[in-house]
Amino acid sequence: MNTDDTKTPATTAPKFASIVPVVKTDEQWRAELTAEEYAVLRKAGTERPYTGEYWDTHTEGVYACRACGTELFTSNEKFDSHCGWPSFFAPLAEGTVKYIHDRTMGMDRVEVRCAACDSHLGHVFEGEGYNTPTDQRFCINSVSLSLRPTQAG
Ligand SMILES: [Zn+2]
Repeated sequence: MNTDDTKTPATTAPKFASIVPVVKTDEQWRAELTAEEYAVLRKAGTERPYTGEYWDTHTEGVYACRACGTELFTSNEKFDSHCGWPSFFAPLAEGTVKYIHDRTMGMDRVEVRCAACDSHLGHVFEGEGYNTPTDQRFCINSVSLSLRPTQAG
């Protein structure tokens, strides 16, 4: 048990996620993932907008990493950005994702990766003016995620 007696915010998510690192070889990933999943998750590809499974999904639930199953985002932080990819204004908890400065493609962006298995998820953009608590947009590939719907009842 965690005996930390500091007050935790009144949210359902823990403030810091405990991440179990997942390390696999490139051959293992290639064998376990589909070609599209591998291209995005392990080669930092991007699915075409408006084609992914979750860009317009409003189902309640938790979005886990498609590669390793670590829970990364929830439907509570998902919002309609109309950009063609699933968008979240925050991760499920601090520590579930990590940030990598990305200067490829002639742009200056911040890449978002799964903190557990280091798979590519998408990018995070800030200050775009969306009416969300953080003014951040985690622009995540559907193929990087796996939705676990909240069980009714
Ligand atoms: Zn992962």
